Amino acid sequence: ATIFSAIDMAPRDPILGITEAFNADTNPAKINLGVGVYYDDNGKVPLLACVRKAEELLMEQPAPRTYLPIEGLAAYDAAVQELVFGAGSAIIQEKRAVTVQAIGGTGALKIGADFLQRFAPGSEVYISDPSWENHRALFESAGFTVNTYRYYDAATRGVDFAGMLADLKAMPKGAIVLLHACCHNPTGADITAAQWDDVIAAIGAGGLIPFLDMAYQGFGTGIAEDGAVVGKFAAAGGPLLISNSFSKSFSLYGERVGALSVVGASAEEAARLLSQLKRVVRTNYSNPPVHGGKVVALALTTPELRQLWEDELAGMRVRIKEMRNTFVQKLKEKAPAHDFEFVREQVGMFSYSGLTRQQVERLRLEHSIYAVDTGRICVAALNSKNIDRVIDAIAKVL
Ligand code: PLP
Repeated sequence: ATIFSAIDMAPRDPILGITEAFNADTNPAKINLGVGVYYDDNGKVPLLACVRKAEELLMEQPAPRTYLPIEGLAAYDAAVQELVFGAGSAIIQEKRAVTVQAIGGTGALKIGADFLQRFAPGSEVYISDPSWENHRALFESAGFTVNTYRYYDAATRGVDFAGMLADLKAMPKGAIVLLHACCHNPTGADITAAQWDDVIAAIGAGGLIPFLDMAYQGFGTGIAEDGAVVGKFAAAGGPLLISNSFSKSFSLYGERVGALSVVGASAEEAARLLSQLKRVVRTNYSNPPVHGGKVVALALTTPELRQLWEDELAGMRVRIKEMRNTFVQKLKEKAPAHDFEFVREQVGMFSYSGLTRQQVERLRLEHSIYAVDTGRICVAALNSKNIDRVIDAIAKVL
């Protein structure tokens, strides 16, 4: 026996487990709604034209693959700041924000968690109940105790905002609060602009550290509209961390393009923060990969490509909304006793559909339709060809 002999098998990732079961299903009509990926109306992951054009431009002048700086490509980091804080924002002008390119949104969260572990080691971390599966694991792996604050209310199919606010007010000073900036995953339930104001006030009054996770900017109302909450937090002062990701908004999942931005009280403080963030990156993976960062930087800063991207992202956003409407309308016809109107109000790629674990199981076993046990479905995996089969199956299991 060696030291490895006694190691247990790690639990399976619940979402990846669905994909494994889906892949093993031999029914040609199978449908996977368990994913966290945007599919187009043909059921394909799109390769955006803005990405293809940016890659063509890059190929015209092939560059050697030297190391990037630890914090990533300067043009990328600057473009991220404009997107996240809004072009011309005071935070940028005052140089109070620092940004490091990261390995996707996940990498940004991990850099942020490791950074906070160095400088706020005793803090409690709070995530929404429920949240993206990996939030808890990421912060626990960085050494934090992770708690939840009330968020989803199954009875109203919306946010238990009174509960959320009460929990925020009861958090110990210095606690780290992870918030979904928009398009809450997994529920699809967001809070309103007025409710954000109350959240920001409670965080300020409680001396809490907000960490905004923005993996779906542009999938809610629009790029600027979805990002507005970041500007509000930044304007309120106090420490602030933002992780963002281009996995979904550029359909660049496998390129791993994201960033972590941290806001300090002054340019001088920000410089110190950057020096420490670089240490965290250096000891994790030294520096980020080149290609995805170059593609995104070029697309964001070349006017023609930028317009193309905004149009393509709007196309994804609108298609998801259309699928929500179609889903609700068709279910109204097939299952008039059940009210799915709430699906129209939800935002982003996901919907907590209200389907029970048993109903999800019947969808899988009887119809080869795969969803998450919690009832989460990916609305972006619905399309004009598969929706009728999905609706018929749901009507049968209700
Ligand atoms: N945060 C949330 C809420 C997510 O849903 C995701 C991806 O599903 C991420 C972060 C991670 O994004 P990435 O794939 O860029 O690591």
